[in-house]
Amino acid sequence: MDFSIIVDTFEQMERTSSRLALTDYLVSLLRKTPTDIIDRVIYLIQGKLRPDYEGVELGLAEKMAIRAISLCTGLDVESIEQIYRKTGDLGDTAGEVMKSKNQTTLLAEKMTVERVYLTLDKIAHSGGTGSQDAKLRLVSSLLSDATPRESRYIMKFIMGTLRLGIADYTVIDALALAFTGDKSYRQILENAYNVSSDLGTVAKLLAIKGLESLRLLEITLYKPVRPMLAERVRSAEEAMVRMKGQSLAAEYKLDGERIQVHKGKEKVELFSRRLEKITHHYPDVAEAIQKLIKTNETILEAEVVAINAQTDEFLPFQELMHRRRKYGIKEAIEEYPVVINIFDVLYIDGDDKTSLPYLQRRKLIEKATKGLKNEKVRLVPQAIVKKTEDLEKLMAVAIEHGCEGLMIKQLTSSYRAGARGFAWIKLKREYRSDLADTLDLVIVGALYGRGRRVGKYGALLLAAYDSKADMFRSTCKVGTGFTDLHLEHFYKNLEDTRITHRHPRVDTGMQMDLWFEPKIVIEVSASEITLSPSHTAGINSIRENYGLALRFPKFTGKIRVDKNPEDATEVEELISMYKRQMRSIKNTRALPKS
Ligand code: AMP
Repeated sequence: MDFSIIVDTFEQMERTSSRLALTDYLVSLLRKTPTDIIDRVIYLIQGKLRPDYEGVELGLAEKMAIRAISLCTGLDVESIEQIYRKTGDLGDTAGEVMKSKNQTTLLAEKMTVERVYLTLDKIAHSGGTGSQDAKLRLVSSLLSDATPRESRYIMKFIMGTLRLGIADYTVIDALALAFTGDKSYRQILENAYNVSSDLGTVAKLLAIKGLESLRLLEITLYKPVRPMLAERVRSAEEAMVRMKGQSLAAEYKLDGERIQVHKGKEKVELFSRRLEKITHHYPDVAEAIQKLIKTNETILEAEVVAINAQTDEFLPFQELMHRRRKYGIKEAIEEYPVVINIFDVLYIDGDDKTSLPYLQRRKLIEKATKGLKNEKVRLVPQAIVKKTEDLEKLMAVAIEHGCEGLMIKQLTSSYRAGARGFAWIKLKREYRSDLADTLDLVIVGALYGRGRRVGKYGALLLAAYDSKADMFRSTCKVGTGFTDLHLEHFYKNLEDTRITHRHPRVDTGMQMDLWFEPKIVIEVSASEITLSPSHTAGINSIRENYGLALRFPKFTGKIRVDKNPEDATEVEELISMYKRQMRSIKNTRALPKS
């Protein structure tokens, strides 16, 4: 397949801010793609070489990329760096520089998708001493045969700056349309994605073997399953109502990081909630699992939490984040000890356990952790509760033990991969702010800083997630709660996601100086929710042409590195928070004056 077909599509995509148009371009690209390379095309449009959980990275230093451009154009490094400073993107730089080089020779090898992918794969897999030189040779050989337009995208891909705004859901829609002609089959594709976390494989199966083969896709060891998610309630009473007065399981909601544990005979792999492989952050946890869990092949879900080794008390999430580092892991293991608390099981020795009811799955993990007490591997504390008062009591105990609150689980519910619903309910502690709960919102834009903040960002534009439309809709600008350290951190990290225009998945009426890809999730508190003519979260749901905005939003200091943008607070949650707030205001007003 000619690489230029992909380049044409990318150019069209870059010019649009409409999700529908993105889907259409994708459908027509997929229809033109030979089935045997459809997985590779899916990965390429998502800016990766393999599914996230494999952790394959190109690992080419920026300096080397500049040298590669220099090598195949003959232009010196300094001049290239000058252009780079102007464009701010090495892909755009390569495109521009290549325009002025002599046209590719007639003898040049044809640029096919196969060749581009294979070369990129070789770049990712060359390691050890001299690997940067090997990578350099591979990139420059590719660029020498590429047209300027092709070079632009090859370089963007290599540097991780290909920002087309294509979400997993858009790919799923496009696949359903391209291969079944009917978007209503998307659910089957989504289920297959939920158990495999690999859209390339889903696409290939669908294209070659058809829809039925997707139904047969099974949970596999070392391939993470997309996690089941919880809805939230505000009070123990509301939780009881949601559970229809039935007995329920109340577990501690620990304030740590969710981990999916894949234990085989030889090795243990750990995956984050975002499905990245993170075994290297917690080698001590992997070792403890191998030693202490009795079953052979097992997939478990658990929360890793930092503890005070002296008192065995749970410590807050921020403490655990010290373990998310590249170097000095050994020291960090000593300095920031953690324990892993198991709360679910998805698979044991070839058997998928997700369709079993909660209570049976709980019995299986009790068996697998039998005899363990206060060791590194633990079972999450749990009680079966029938009355609201008991739930309230348990909530107080959990908070006293350093938890965020309770996770309330329906006893009969199966494990629903990738789904959010009321089978799991989170009941979090009341915060000091007036709104009962904090919100996790996505940074989508910013204003330049003034005064003390010149050269940094002044305020950040935050958005909630609208899962029905797969869009991010703005709900506030936040400028308080940031320390200088935070500001520097944001400046560095957001630069990598900067784009020249509003992202196609972002919807707002606000004018901003800068726009970002929706990637980074932060936690904010606020005093109340108000109607707003310029924010678009929940627009028209309460009043026509009005969205919902947060009043006095404040950054809590928590950057939710464990959350994907799609895991942010949903617009629907915001709407119900607003309605609850209005009800309680009404109730207070209705109280007789004393
Ligand atoms: P939130 O991050 O506020 O949306 O709450 C959901 C998260 O709570 C999950 O992704 C887990 O990381 C965490 N969690 C803590 N304790 C539990 C538990 N017992 N069961 C399920 N999730 C838990």
